[in-house]
Amino acid sequence: MTQPVIIVGAGVVGSLLGKFLKQKKIPFVILEEKNSFELSPARTVALTKDSVSFLNSVDRRININQWGTPVKKMQLYQDKDLNTSLNYVDQTKLTTICSLDKLSSKLHEGLDGDILWNSRIEEIEECEDSILVKARDKNIKGSILFATDGSNSKVRVMSNFDTEEWFYGQRVYITRIKYDHQNIARQYFLKSGTLAFLPFDDCYSVIFCTNTNEDARKELISLLHRFDLAKASTKIEPLVGGIELKHVRAKKLFSNRIVLCGDASNSFHPMAGQSLNLGIGDIMQISYDLKAILNADNNALEKYNKTRNKKNLQMTWIIQSLFGAFSNMSGISELMLSSGMKFLDKFTNAKETIIDFANKN
Ligand SMILES: Cc1cc2nc3c(=O)[nH]c(=O)nc-3n(C[C@H](O)[C@H](O)[C@H](O)COP(=O)(O)OP(=O)(O)OC[C@H]3O[C@@H](n4cnc5c(N)ncnc54)[C@H](O)[C@@H]3O)c2cc1C
Repeated sequence: MTQPVIIVGAGVVGSLLGKFLKQKKIPFVILEEKNSFELSPARTVALTKDSVSFLNSVDRRININQWGTPVKKMQLYQDKDLNTSLNYVDQTKLTTICSLDKLSSKLHEGLDGDILWNSRIEEIEECEDSILVKARDKNIKGSILFATDGSNSKVRVMSNFDTEEWFYGQRVYITRIKYDHQNIARQYFLKSGTLAFLPFDDCYSVIFCTNTNEDARKELISLLHRFDLAKASTKIEPLVGGIELKHVRAKKLFSNRIVLCGDASNSFHPMAGQSLNLGIGDIMQISYDLKAILNADNNALEKYNKTRNKKNLQMTWIIQSLFGAFSNMSGISELMLSSGMKFLDKFTNAKETIIDFANKN
């Protein structure tokens, strides 16, 4: 019997890879440390056009266009001043906001027997033409291992991948607010962090990144008042999360028969809403060279490494620049940023270029 492909982690990226292999009739197994799927109703993700097309192509029942919320306009604020609006005039370039729970459940559909829940990996042994994984009471031999086990990837640590990482000094909280959003997203760049309002069904999904050590809910409510969203503050759900934000980037994305994908390879500050899109981009890249990658062909893996690392480095640079600029705003730099954003607002072509860049995984 052919050895299965081993996938570690049943998040969106691991499940997507499993779904894709299933479509190609390639045997695989997904090892997941949780006992079952855990719900997180307020969590959303903004998906690019590339992500939506790829997800829909892997299984037409995913059909995101039927249930996702398209963003018609993205308004960028520097503190409380609206400085730039990105209008998605071309309907084919719309960003789509999706519930993470719904996306995950659509991906898990049909993978019932393929996900081994309660299977935290404990050991990995690389052999010449196979890989052996120990997960709780199971030993599984496979042809190649894809690590999709998230930003604190155990596979990455156990296999000694070289990484760079740093903390942003901020925590991320999420909540929902009932709001007549008219499909307009808002992103506020503040000295203390970023505050995003993403249209999602009849709510705003709120992603609040802050360096405060005080009560985050109190701070959010005071921001809602300052930003003319006072009415919304009465309908706010409890804040969840409070996870410390960190950047982690693996310098090389494979080693022999182990390949890093999704947050296990890179995770960023959520301000640009790009980590998952890049993870989906990893699976898209694997799909282009599937046979060679599954055979652990060194050239194909080098190509994967080069292509994805380039994208990850570009995103690291963009996010670091935005983070550095907005978190250190004062006096002249604040003025320059605001003039720069207002100047950008006048140039439709430049804004189209930004939309095009953000749409490519
Ligand atoms: C508030 C917030 C908003 C975001 N918004 C966006 C957005 O708008 N757009 C976007 O592109 N991205 C966004 N992101 C990022 C996005 O959510 C992540 O990039 C994405 O969910 C990562 O998917 P993943 O499958 O790589 O990892 P994960 O979702 O972390 O999945 C990893 C899985 O591996 C399992 N696992 C871990 N360790 C082990 C082990 N030892 N053995 C077995 N299993 C294990 C975990 O239980 C988990 O199920 C956001 C992130 C946050 C925090």
